[in-house]
Amino acid sequence: MLLPLLAPLAWRGLGGPMLMLRLYNTLSKKLEDFKPLKDKHVGLYTCGPTVYNFAHIGNLRTYIFEDALKRVLTYLGYKVTHAMNITDVGHLTSDADEGEDKMELGAKREGKSPLAIAKRYEQAFFADLTALNVLPPDKILRATDSIKEQLEIIKLLEKRGFTYQDEAAIYFDTSKLSDYGKLSGQKLSDKKTAARAEVVVDEKKRNPTDFVLWFFLTGRYKSHVLHWPSPWGEGFPGWHIECSAISRKLLGQPFDIHTGGVDHIGTHHTNEIAQSEAAFGLPLANVWMHGEFLQIQNSKMAKSAGTFITLADVIAKNFSPLAYRYLALTAHYRAKLNFTWESLAAAQNALDELYEKIAQLSGTPSVAMCADYARVFEREISNDLDMPRAASLLWRLVKSDNSDKLKLSTLKRFDEVLSLNLLKGAAAIKKIPREIKKLAHDREMARKKSDFASADAIRKEIELAGYTVRDTTEGSVIRPLSFRKPRSGT
Ligand code: AMP
Ligand code: ZN
Repeated sequence: MLLPLLAPLAWRGLGGPMLMLRLYNTLSKKLEDFKPLKDKHVGLYTCGPTVYNFAHIGNLRTYIFEDALKRVLTYLGYKVTHAMNITDVGHLTSDADEGEDKMELGAKREGKSPLAIAKRYEQAFFADLTALNVLPPDKILRATDSIKEQLEIIKLLEKRGFTYQDEAAIYFDTSKLSDYGKLSGQKLSDKKTAARAEVVVDEKKRNPTDFVLWFFLTGRYKSHVLHWPSPWGEGFPGWHIECSAISRKLLGQPFDIHTGGVDHIGTHHTNEIAQSEAAFGLPLANVWMHGEFLQIQNSKMAKSAGTFITLADVIAKNFSPLAYRYLALTAHYRAKLNFTWESLAAAQNALDELYEKIAQLSGTPSVAMCADYARVFEREISNDLDMPRAASLLWRLVKSDNSDKLKLSTLKRFDEVLSLNLLKGAAAIKKIPREIKKLAHDREMARKKSDFASADAIRKEIELAGYTVRDTTEGSVIRPLSFRKPRSGT
């Protein structure tokens, strides 16, 4: 036993002594002690989905990381206000203001209007979040519902001399900001030489890093379906401006933490900072946190690559969404994670085993916790969200010498952060009907006699009854198939 048995710790709740939360800030490129702007209140902004297709499990990895952050903050006694945008216009297929509007691309693909596409995939996105136990944001605003606020910022930027205009668009002049690019650490001069692949040299722009604030209905965007009047003419917003407008409207400026995936560091977040700081002369956010990529065959999982995996694919293969959450939590958010079906199967097995072990504990949870485990758990989550270590503590706890009651109450409390339905999963195992257990036994007998046709037929029968059966070295394990229904929108 690694941890000595100590007296139970009554949960101290808010106001007690607390470990300092340390978070890695992309802006300072350092681990920092986290101090909210307003005592224990935290304003958290997350870049939301572009709702032109299903989210893939790479996108969902980022939302799981953000959910872990929010749950850690809450566990440590902070009061979090979480805001998010929904991108339903203006995000082109390239971050460099090139290509087709993703919403119109989705509309053409399915022969529907961009708004119908947005509605369909927004619903599917929130269904995915629910299945993954990702808490919904407290405040949500769609890009198309914040055009007024976006125009206000563009007007301010124009007044302050940060814009220029041609027949195609209104641009942000990045050379007017001395610290443009501070988030990525890339200098404007590096980009001028177009040394990096993502830098597209656009003749219309004064500097390669300049970006569009407002597109006019000309050229390739002449028939853009979604458009609004503006003081400069009919058009639609560039992608970045919505996050500056929405975060300010929902959280004020500055706010505490801004999150997203690492692909947003170089362009989207860099440009959000540029616009917001130029318009208001204030920082946009104090801490910038970025989740690393989920990879597949060692390259980024991306919608445009066409080989992405959705949560529906995961469910179709009889894996539970929470097995994917478990897999995501076993890698640190700042480390790349290479997805394989084998690693998901291992995560599912681990989670099932955890449920089995918890199902063997008796009693009901109380408020007291195993003191040492609680302390270590708090230390791990406070160390830049070390969820892999926090999750590994579950195993040590269930195998420890603590009383079942204490184990249960500690697991319950840890699950407020990990959110793996630990007690619910264990309870579901306890409720498996005798007939299903009998079928699983019959199947095992058939397998032992190498009667694989009967074993297969019994497995199908078990699945039809809403359970899945899996073979381990210790015999067959039955699990309720709680996510058999395809999600809405599929
Ligand atoms: P999008 O819907 O493309 O705007 O992306 C939604 C979120 O997913 C953003 O925070 C992206 O940075 C993030 N993201 C995109 N691809 C991946 C990936 N392969 N792994 C992790 N996060 C990703
Ligand atoms: Zn954003």
